Amino acid sequence: MTYTITVLPGDGIGIEVTEQATAVIHDIGKKCGHDFYLREALMGGCAIDKTGTPLPEETLALCKASDAVLLGAVGGPEWETLPGNLRPEAGLLAIRAGLGLYANLRPAVIYPALKNASPLRPDIISGGVDILVVRELTGGIYFGERGRKTLPDGIETAFDTEQYSTLEVERIARVGFEAARKRKKKLMSVDKANILESSRLWRETILKIAPDYPDVELSHMYVDNAAMQLVRNPKQFDVIVTSNIFGDILSDEASQITGSIGMLQSASLGSGTLGLYEPVHGSAPDIAGKDLANPIATILSVAMLLRYSLSLEAEAELIERAVESVLDNGFRTPDIRSENTKIVGTGEMGRLIREAINAL
Ligand code: NAD
Repeated sequence: MTYTITVLPGDGIGIEVTEQATAVIHDIGKKCGHDFYLREALMGGCAIDKTGTPLPEETLALCKASDAVLLGAVGGPEWETLPGNLRPEAGLLAIRAGLGLYANLRPAVIYPALKNASPLRPDIISGGVDILVVRELTGGIYFGERGRKTLPDGIETAFDTEQYSTLEVERIARVGFEAARKRKKKLMSVDKANILESSRLWRETILKIAPDYPDVELSHMYVDNAAMQLVRNPKQFDVIVTSNIFGDILSDEASQITGSIGMLQSASLGSGTLGLYEPVHGSAPDIAGKDLANPIATILSVAMLLRYSLSLEAEAELIERAVESVLDNGFRTPDIRSENTKIVGTGEMGRLIREAINAL
């Protein structure tokens, strides 16, 4: 069987980090006997320069005809003065919509070797933290009715509407349950059901489908409490499933407790197995082309790609264990440096991870 993966390097460090990530895919293929067919396409600033648009139709068609898509990062100062709909970042919204991706998965992992990078106290994170935030991506208040009204007394008001259908809640909840099944089988649904009607529907809908997943332990938490618990006792969480706006805020909070943007991977999924995998960071123009970028977020995005789109769990774990062993051996890119560590560049970090994969 051949797996087709479309790679969108994008701009800035996107090019360097996807180069390392694709080398990892090739090594996994050789080691584990899989046939990966990789092809590159244009997206972001480079696509604007060559075609006038951040997401050319040809790129979207290639992505749709793939088993998975790996994206580096897009954007840079060269394109900052263009109108909003023609900027590289417009391609990000367009590709998510074009591929029907409604679930965003963001893990937040504190590796024992990087515990000093976390802003949390050592006793709070001892033993490591491993959380997956599943955020609904195409509904809720970011897409609801909005507007402004001037009251009869001349005071101006504005409103945004949080609205969810049972269909939208059910499909994101199933992503959460399925993800929990592949992990520690604990799902925390976060809402504000003590106040919001949309949250009450959210909770009812999740409770209705919970019997389909008897092996997953489901619990519920109000969003204000969840925000507190993430910094008070993050080890209690396995998978969190939540709405677009709550997920936006909680996934940023969860990622910051890990301490480094160069380590954060993400996945966006739709109803089939096709997914888009990318690091959380941007194109980092300040360090682009200098062999300084940390490729680990993109390499860990490959692990998610193998797990969620190709169901290659053992291969995904191989990558994760290789990253952990390179960190345990004291190698660091400059962004995650600490005392008594060996500083390496983008290419060398990629090579060390591939060496560890081959040795495992
Ligand atoms: P950024 O994430 O690119 O960089 C923020 C800081 O983190 C910089 O100091 C950078 O050097 C550092 N950094 C980021 N990734 C790193 C890595 N892998 N290794 C080491 N250091 C790393 O965010 P920004 O500076 O706000 O944005 C730069 C450009 O990227 C903008 O054009 C922005 O719109 C775009 N952007 C794109 C995406 C995406 O493609 N998904 C996401 C965010 C920002």
